[in-house]
Amino acid sequence: MNIPKSHPRYLSLQIREKLVKGFENNLVAKEGLLAHGRGEAFDYIIGEKTSKFAKQAIKSAANMLNYAQNSVISVNGNFAALCSKEIIQLAKSTNSKIEVNLFYSSEKRKKAITKILKESGAREILGIDKKSSTKLVGIDSARRMVDKNGIFSADVVLVPLEDGDRTIALKKAKKKIITFDLNPLSRTAQTADITIIDNVTRAMKLLVIESKKKSKKHQTYNNKKNLKMAILEIRKNLERRAKSV
Ligand code: ATP
Ligand code: MG
Repeated sequence: MNIPKSHPRYLSLQIREKLVKGFENNLVAKEGLLAHGRGEAFDYIIGEKTSKFAKQAIKSAANMLNYAQNSVISVNGNFAALCSKEIIQLAKSTNSKIEVNLFYSSEKRKKAITKILKESGAREILGIDKKSSTKLVGIDSARRMVDKNGIFSADVVLVPLEDGDRTIALKKAKKKIITFDLNPLSRTAQTADITIIDNVTRAMKLLVIESKKKSKKHQTYNNKKNLKMAILEIRKNLERRAKSV
């Protein structure tokens, strides 16, 4: 599809096109397309830009990844379709492992995701070898599989665009959780230790840059406060729009 640059939703439509291509190439699940739509709606009212609160969360996330003992980047279809290059860059700069971990498990999709990650420069990809798969407790069977050498033994896990049940199960397993989620009201956003309320396509680029700075360890971040700021920012945006109707 040819989108004119002057279109007010130009970037948003380009991201959509990437997902549609991802769907056609077996990377993205049907449900992934719908989940993206939910994210888009929040992006619209956030103003389709990285806000101050997201920048703070990104700084803390870079710090947490840099000081982790054993950090893992969990990759699903949407994340691979939108950010494959940045996934590899972040894994390198923070010395994190990469695990393909799907909400709707499918061998075909796992293969397609592995392929795009390899093409983008990944060496080791976890979550593929059935021999090293194990179960998380507190979640139903199809969605609880993780890699023994990856998420299962990690102290810090980056889980973008994740489902709430799984995030809660990871918290129960005592993991520190970083997520990207445009919806500050979702269970994942509210359960994670660091919630980056921004479009993953914008925020991943910033996270890579931030992680390379190797800042000193700091612990002043408060996720509850950050979520509040996001919700209030949405309210402010809506009030401004209401005035201009
Ligand atoms: P939860 O299960 O955490 O309560 P949910 O059921 O509302 O959340 P899911 O479909 O489980 O939503 O999770 C997908 C999440 O990913 C949504 O909150 C959506 O806003 C978010 N999301 C989708 N696309 C993007 C994107 N490009 N960048 C950031 N977040 C996104
Ligand atoms: Mg959900």
